[in-house]
Order: sequence, then C-alpha cells, then structure tokens
Amino acid sequence: MSDFCCPAQLGYIGLEVSDPERWQSFATGILGLGVESTDEMLYLRMDDYAWRICLSRGSRDDLCLLGWEMRDAAALEALAARLTAKGIAVRRGDRDALNRRLVVDLIEFEDPNGIKSEAYCGPLIDRANPFRSPRQMSSFVTGDLGFGHITMTVDSLDRSLAFYRDVLGLRISDWVRPQPERGVESHVNLAFLRCNGRHHSLAFMEMKLPRRLHHFMLQVESIDDVGQTLYLCEDRQIPIELTLGRHTNDGMLSFYMQTPSGFSVEYGWGAREVDEATWTTQLHTNGSSWGHRHPA
Ligand code: FE
Repeated sequence: MSDFCCPAQLGYIGLEVSDPERWQSFATGILGLGVESTDEMLYLRMDDYAWRICLSRGSRDDLCLLGWEMRDAAALEALAARLTAKGIAVRRGDRDALNRRLVVDLIEFEDPNGIKSEAYCGPLIDRANPFRSPRQMSSFVTGDLGFGHITMTVDSLDRSLAFYRDVLGLRISDWVRPQPERGVESHVNLAFLRCNGRHHSLAFMEMKLPRRLHHFMLQVESIDDVGQTLYLCEDRQIPIELTLGRHTNDGMLSFYMQTPSGFSVEYGWGAREVDEATWTTQLHTNGSSWGHRHPA
C-alpha cells in the first residue's frame, strides 16, 4: 500500500473543557504553552505553528478534535478520495473552517468512535512572531514529529485498526499486551501507531472509561524541564497521576499530571525515534521499565 495518503503528522487536537479560565493558567503556568484567545476558543501554542491545541467551552471535558496534517494539497485530495472510496463521509471545510483553523485547505470526517477528525494542508507558521514560553524552559519537541501524542479509548480495537491503519495509513510501532502466562496481569491491550519518526502519534485501547481521552503528551528538549515541572506541580498542588518513569517502547522519561478536565498530560523527554528502514513491530509486557506508579 502506498503511504501517499498517510498523514505527515498529528498537527493539532481540540479539547472541550468546562473551565477554560483554569485551563488558561494551567497551560501557561504549568505546561509552559502560549495562549491566544478569541470569543469562542483558546488557542495554545508551543512552536512556530500559530496553534497546536484549541480549547472550546463545554461540559464534556474530553477530546473533541483530531487534526492530521497532509504533506500537500495532492496528498489531501488522495486521502479524501480514499475515505470516500471506503464509504466514509467527507466534507470540504468552508471558508469559516479554514479561518478558524488557519490552514490553506481542510476536509472533515469522523473516526469510527465518532471523534470529529480533520485532515488539512498548509498550516499557518508564524515565524515573524517566534514562540516564547511564558515559563523559563527549553522548548518543545515538535516540527516534523507533530504536536505530541494522544492515548484514547476506542469502542472496538478492530474497527479502529481498520480505520487508522488500513484507511488512514498509520503504521503500528508496537503493542503493550497483558500476558498472564508471564505473570503479568493487566487488562490493557494497547496499540501504538505512528505516521512519522515519532514512535506514536496515537495509541488506543478498547475500554469503557468516562472519557475518550486518557492523556496527551508534550515532549520537551531538556530533562530539566521535566524535573522542574514535576516540582512546579508539587508547589502548586497539581495532582500527579503517574510518578516519574521510563516507558518500555518509546523510551520516554516522563510523569503524568492531572489537567483541570480530569484527563492527564504526560510531560516527557528523551523518546527514541523510529527509523523506518530498520524498525520492526514489537510486543511489550509492561508499559514502563521503571516508575510510572500511582502515587500513594
Ligand atoms: Fe503517552
């Protein structure tokens, strides 16, 4: 299968949040993101892109949008044709949608879990006004790798694989699976999918939780940012969901904090990147080689 239609990166996400005001101070003061607000939206910035995360007010406190960046207009058209051929309804983004997202072109569709999804090309890159974090920190690892990653629950693992792997063209980096025969009792069966050198842009598991979104991940350039942010959480009483640890598969050194919406942010450093020439799909028993414990 040609991967011409495969997205180049997970470029942006949208979150519906019940307390945008608290989110604004959390995003700037703890995460170190820039914020720009309009009447309806908060736009969070972390690099040259005009924005990477948009927050809209609502009661769901969950993921409400995935934005897949295509290399160019031809790749966007090819994806639109492929979705249509698979019987998935595609809508062309109107002038309002393009203005809201600040992109050249855009299509809209739904994933098998009913998550509003978009593929776009030509995002606004604002180098005339370089990103500076409101916090003292290095910078975020983004660029070709996209904004970060998300881990979410899906209704059916098979249907989500059929969509994300077989239609969108993402590749499976590895699996974390329970292996009771090896003494590992866990109910988690996680698939990790990539579209570029980032080990995964999307991970999912078949599970019913109150929310679709388990966490989104932001990767920083310096390990000091992880340490400083961990202590900042302690100082400001931001609940830690999982303590400092190292993931088995992407090698990320990270911890998880609770957001004002209840789902988590993984704040990490030092992940390995996939070399397409040599990577083979792997199986892991545990998600972490050490740490990532639930705090007492
Ligand atoms: Fe993660």
